[in-house]
Amino acid sequence: MLKGKTAVVTGSTSGIGLGIARAMAQNGANVVINGFGDKAAIDKERAGIENEFGVKALYSPADMTKPAEIADMITTAEKTFGSVDVLVSNAGVQHVAPIEEFPTDKWDMIIAINMSAAFHAIRAAVPGMKARRWGRIINTASAHSLVASPFKAAYVTAKHGLVGLTKTAALELASFRVTANCISPGYVWTPLVEKQIPDTMKARNMTAEQVKRDVLLAAQPTKEFVTVDQVASLAVYLCSDAAAQITGANLSIDGGWTAE
Ligand code: NAD
Repeated sequence: MLKGKTAVVTGSTSGIGLGIARAMAQNGANVVINGFGDKAAIDKERAGIENEFGVKALYSPADMTKPAEIADMITTAEKTFGSVDVLVSNAGVQHVAPIEEFPTDKWDMIIAINMSAAFHAIRAAVPGMKARRWGRIINTASAHSLVASPFKAAYVTAKHGLVGLTKTAALELASFRVTANCISPGYVWTPLVEKQIPDTMKARNMTAEQVKRDVLLAAQPTKEFVTVDQVASLAVYLCSDAAAQITGANLSIDGGWTAE
């Protein structure tokens, strides 16, 4: 379905982004993977994608807090593969603290990575998409783009903002066959979720099991974590012709969390 197309997926050295990048490659796209981590492990993953799916995979070390590096990632992808047809802004970080104690540097970092990076990437990729009259912009938002939770001021703010950016892009690009949508997962079992357990334990004075059951899955009526594969399948669907008229949407995949 995506043969001859290129997908850039930010924050794809781990978790949801890696699942989305692999799913794009499985559907024939050349992919640019991005994010932090052990260099050897990243190169193994990159080479594995090429071998398993018969596509080309490039690694960009662009830091999503740095607008110039984000623009360079898009330019490099276009130079290497000829186009950026699918842009998935997925990189994200979390910090959990009461609002009056929320470190200001963490606030700035979360706003930069979880929200502003998507703007910088879209800004750089849109001219090519418009010229080719085809594109798919997908932003990984969150159930926290629709509802809040305590102690996550920066994250909730960034994810709500991402939805506004996505709607604006959808309107500006509607007549160019370029769609822009958010995917909003509930709790997906990834390193990001795992890492916030100790802070939540401290903030709420709970054990790890209590945090999982009474905080994380408390809001998810199905009482099951969303899987990375389920999120990746939705991203692939948004790239299909069947999804050509879905734009400006914020698609929940959250086990019923935001239905309440
Ligand atoms: P993860 O920690 O497994 O992956 C995050 C990725 O972002 C990694 O590849 C990391 O290297 C990258 N990253 C972090 N800082 C970066 C930076 N400055 N520049 C470039 N890359 C950077 O997390 P995940 O759970 O897979 O989350 C991915 C996205 O999904 C995030 O936007 C997150 O908010 C969102 N999300 C996750 C869940 C969940 O339950 N896991 C739920 C809803 C939304």
